[in-house]
Amino acid sequence: MKIGFIGLGNMGAPMAANLAKKHDVIGFDTAAKPDGLTLADSAAAAAKDADVVITMLPNGNILRAVASEIHPVMKPGAIHLDCSTIDVESARAVAAQAEGRGLHAMDAPVSGGIGGATNGTLTFMAGGPDAAFATVKPLFDIMGQKAVHCGLAGNGQAAKICNNMILGVTMIATCEAFVLADKLGLDRQAMFDVVSTSSGASWSMTAYCPAPGIGPTSPADNDYKPGFAAELMLKDLNLAQMAAQAVDADTPMGHAARALYAQFVENENGAGRDFSAMLPRFEKRGRG
Ligand code: NAD
Repeated sequence: MKIGFIGLGNMGAPMAANLAKKHDVIGFDTAAKPDGLTLADSAAAAAKDADVVITMLPNGNILRAVASEIHPVMKPGAIHLDCSTIDVESARAVAAQAEGRGLHAMDAPVSGGIGGATNGTLTFMAGGPDAAFATVKPLFDIMGQKAVHCGLAGNGQAAKICNNMILGVTMIATCEAFVLADKLGLDRQAMFDVVSTSSGASWSMTAYCPAPGIGPTSPADNDYKPGFAAELMLKDLNLAQMAAQAVDADTPMGHAARALYAQFVENENGAGRDFSAMLPRFEKRGRG
């Protein structure tokens, strides 16, 4: 398969490198020039002969601009597979534009971070037609360990922001509960032993415990170096609130989580720290 890969940053470069072991990959990025990949000198040049063009870009506006550049030159019937995390509206608009030009489109944001991109263990949440999913499934199998087909265009993004809204909320709840437990004189190991096997358990507690030295190894054990950076969590919570507003969904906990991560990232030096560093943030505070 001929693959064009546009956006060779922290995630895109290792994903493209994994694909290049089995397929003919031509990459393009406005800034990054990773070693070991064949590079084109424009997005259109990377896209024009490709059976599948993958984009891995920072946001919906950049995706829309790149889509307008590549769709006119892509081969009829080729697939535009966008793996960026972007707003649902842009994902659906780009998909409609692709279909209108005789192309196929699929949004497939990922979870698993840079480690997952490097090791080929990402999870893909895909939205788009069945036939396009079947064609790109072997590529998901190279770049990742799981791909869930969530329905039509935009549904991959919808699944991603709903999942990450739950994650942001449960991480905050887990961190604030640890600090309440500390102040009540409860040992953190005892707190973990109870909650991790009780109804308060979540992935935030059992797989990514925010308390250093407790539970499985996590960014808390590495001075809260990301992992999953707080500013990326804020990005996803902003996307969730944009989507909630667009469809009039009442999401009070998602709204509160967004406000807390915005405060942490923008005013409390949270940028560049793992999103579980909410725990030391709460430790330093009282109720006022
Ligand atoms: P990044 O900033 O490292 O990479 C984005 C790349 O896009 C950059 O190299 C940039 O130069 C390039 N770019 C920007 N505009 C361009 C254009 N017009 N044409 C071509 N290239 C252009 O970001 P990343 O961490 O690789 O994340 C990419 C996407 O994946 C984002 O949507 C992010 O939210 C999502 N994501 C990231 C992670 C993570 O842990 N980093 C995890 C899951 C999802």
